[in-house]
Amino acid sequence: MGHARLTASTLPPVRGTLKADAPLAPLVWFKAGGTAQWLFEPKDADDLSDFMAMLDPAMPVMALGLGSNLIVRDGGVPGVVVRLGKPFAKVEALDATTLRCGGGASGILVSSTARDAGIAGLEFLRSIPGTVGGFVRMNGGAYGRETADILVECDLVLRSGEQVTLLNSDLHYSYRHSNLTDGAVVVSATFRGEPGEPAGIQAEMDRIATAREESQPLRSKTGGSTFKNPDGHKAWALVDEAGCRGLALGGAQVSDKHTNFLLNTGDATSSDIESLGEEVRRRVKEKSGVELEWEIQRVGRK
Ligand SMILES: Cc1cc2nc3c(=O)[nH]c(=O)nc-3n(C[C@H](O)[C@H](O)[C@H](O)COP(=O)(O)OP(=O)(O)OC[C@H]3O[C@@H](n4cnc5c(N)ncnc54)[C@H](O)[C@@H]3O)c2cc1C
Repeated sequence: MGHARLTASTLPPVRGTLKADAPLAPLVWFKAGGTAQWLFEPKDADDLSDFMAMLDPAMPVMALGLGSNLIVRDGGVPGVVVRLGKPFAKVEALDATTLRCGGGASGILVSSTARDAGIAGLEFLRSIPGTVGGFVRMNGGAYGRETADILVECDLVLRSGEQVTLLNSDLHYSYRHSNLTDGAVVVSATFRGEPGEPAGIQAEMDRIATAREESQPLRSKTGGSTFKNPDGHKAWALVDEAGCRGLALGGAQVSDKHTNFLLNTGDATSSDIESLGEEVRRRVKEKSGVELEWEIQRVGRK
C-alpha cells in the first residue's frame, strides 16, 4: 500500500501522538487484523477538533474504543483511527444522580464511580467490556438496561472538526444502534441514574458479574455478541439450532459456551473470523429462514 510512505508532516500537527502503520491487533479483543494507516491519540478534545478540521476531508476517520465489538480486517484500516487514551478516561459525579464520563472511560470505571457516589442504575455497564464512546455509539446494554436509558447528552467532535453536544433524543436510539455519523468521535457523555445505597449497588454489580462469568467466554479472544437478536428470536438459539455450536474455520470457532460468540482459538486471521460468521449466517438462513444481522462492526480492507 502506498499509504506507508506518507509521513506525519503530510498531516496536520498534533499535540498528542500520531503513528503511521500502527498494528491494531493488540488493541482489539479478537487479537487479529491489520494496521491503521494512522493511529491518533489526541491530547484533548481541542487537539482532536483542530486535527479533524485541517485534515483532508477525503481521509476517513474512525474511533476505536477497546475493540470489544470489532473485526479489523486483515488489509488494515485506511485513514485515521482515533483512540482516546488517558486524557479521556476520567469519570466524576456531578450531583446525586449524574456522572460526567470521558469517552475513553471503561464500563467498570463508570459503574464503580457510580457506586461510590451512591448512584444506582448504571450497574449493567460493569459487564460490558467497552468504553463510554463505544456504549454511546452502539447503545450498549445488558440485563434489561441500555445506554439509551441513562444517557443525558454527549459531546462529539464531528469529522469536520466542529464540536457539538447532542441530547439523547438526537441519537434516535434503537436496539444496539444510534444514528451517529461516520467519523464522529464521542469525547464525553453525561449519564443519569437514581440515588442508591453503595452496598446495594455493589451487590447488583456482583450479581451481574457472576451471571456473566457463567454464561460467556470472558477470557477468550472474542468480539462479544456477533449477531443482533432478530425480532422475536434469540440469535444464540438460531445459531445452535442450525448446528453451528463449536463450528470451526481456520483459527476461528463458534463458542461452545455461548453460540452467539465467535472465538479466535489461537492464530485466526480476521478473514477466518468473518468467513465463519458468514457461514453461520448462511446455515441459519437455510435452517430457519431468518437473516441474522451482524452486531459486530467490521472495518477496513479484506
Ligand atoms: C466478552 C464480551 C461481552 C460483551 N457483552 C456485551 C453486552 O452485554 N452488551 C453489549 O451491548 N455489548 C457487549 N459486548 C460488545 C462491546 O463491549 C460493546 O459493543 C461496546 O459498546 C463496545 O465498546 P468499545 O469501546 O470497545 O468499542 P469498539 O469495539 O472499539 O468499537 C465499536 C464501535 O463503536 C465505535 N466507537 C468506539 N469508540 C467510539 C467513540 N469514542 N466515539 C464514537 N464511536 C466510537 C467504533 O468506531 C465502532 O464502530 C461484549 C463484548 C465482549 C468482548
